[in-house]
Amino acid sequence: MKRGSVCAIVALIGSLLVEPALAEVIALKAGYLIDPATASVSRDKIVLIDGAKIVDVVERMPVPAPARVIDLSTRWVLPGLMDLHTHLSYDYTASLCANYLEHGNGYRALIGLSKAQEMLQAGFTTVRDVGNAGNYVDTDLRRAIEAGLFKGPTIVNAGKIIAPFGGQQDAVSPTVGPCWNYEYIDADGVDEVRKAVRTNIFYGARVIKLVSDFRGGTHGVYTEAEIRVAAEEAHRVGLTLAVHAKEDETAMAAVLGGADSIEHAYAVTDAVLKLMKQKGVYLVNTDIPLSHLLGGKSSNPAVARERSRAKVERLRRAYQIGVPLAFGTDVTHDLPDRDRGRMALDFIDVWLEAGIPSAYIVKAMTTQGAKLMKIDGERGSLAKGHYADIIASPGNPLDDARVLGSVDFVMKNGQVVRER
Ligand SMILES: [Zn+2]
Repeated sequence: MKRGSVCAIVALIGSLLVEPALAEVIALKAGYLIDPATASVSRDKIVLIDGAKIVDVVERMPVPAPARVIDLSTRWVLPGLMDLHTHLSYDYTASLCANYLEHGNGYRALIGLSKAQEMLQAGFTTVRDVGNAGNYVDTDLRRAIEAGLFKGPTIVNAGKIIAPFGGQQDAVSPTVGPCWNYEYIDADGVDEVRKAVRTNIFYGARVIKLVSDFRGGTHGVYTEAEIRVAAEEAHRVGLTLAVHAKEDETAMAAVLGGADSIEHAYAVTDAVLKLMKQKGVYLVNTDIPLSHLLGGKSSNPAVARERSRAKVERLRRAYQIGVPLAFGTDVTHDLPDRDRGRMALDFIDVWLEAGIPSAYIVKAMTTQGAKLMKIDGERGSLAKGHYADIIASPGNPLDDARVLGSVDFVMKNGQVVRER
């Protein structure tokens, strides 16, 4: 009898004598298991994963043996990262109207898929995609990934951006018409805002996004009453409300009106920040790193440095006051030799520059993001019952968050999408 056949028979007898393997269960051996909420580390844990979810976290290998072992015993293991402010399907190389008119929705969806996969490879297992996605391409992208057609992060999508007439488009000739309507909904007054929110919900939005002060309010700004009706409609179906507000007055109106997060808030005073803390309103700061500004986004280094300094100063104040912070990037540009995921990770530098401890940054990139999106019951920690969105890095990100740039293992919903 050939040697191979003997081995096969021995293996068969062996399999009859021992207890059967746990079908499909993965045992992920975590050398250092991080809980971002408490900034604590547990040594030598085993995360048991069945299908898409974590079924237990245990001290030693279970009997019977799992079907598959993933050995990360030298790695720091933590929940997948979250970017709370993406525009995956937006093509920055075209002007706004050209972006809407020259690219088909199919092309926009493919841009979005490509960027979504770059984010996932870098360790972002969830993104909140806040508009500029053509005619609800973001809903299609989310559904295609949810259906398993493509690998990608969980997408919490905003649908069309709701804004005062004109969206984020500079004035165009009336002959051209409202070209921005391909991805914005003009909504002025509480009734139009209510209808716009309902429209987005109907077409599959998972978060509601308002732009309140484009170019300082060129097209008008949202009042507290308009914000409130958007918040009411969103909250009624369990969604949250994100409001783009760069200026102090508009941010104040958004906070008073019941927004769940303020996007950007570049020019806010301490009064707004203190109210945000009091009401538990998140800041999604989207502060672009100086390296990106100098690398192409701004041609004037002195202006770039001043822009960067002001943002860092505002982020430092927000952290010191105690505003809940969630990590968001707002990347729409490209840089040579850097994909979208790597560019998003560059934003960590700004947080460190603002004096924010790495342990808090990790929390802002995981637990806090999940809370803001109200998905913290199922994602954002490696607890039993949560989805197995898991990443690993060779160093401890609680000591230096920049080590997240060296993530070398990514699991999404229990499936390994990157391994070394
Ligand atoms: Zn944005």
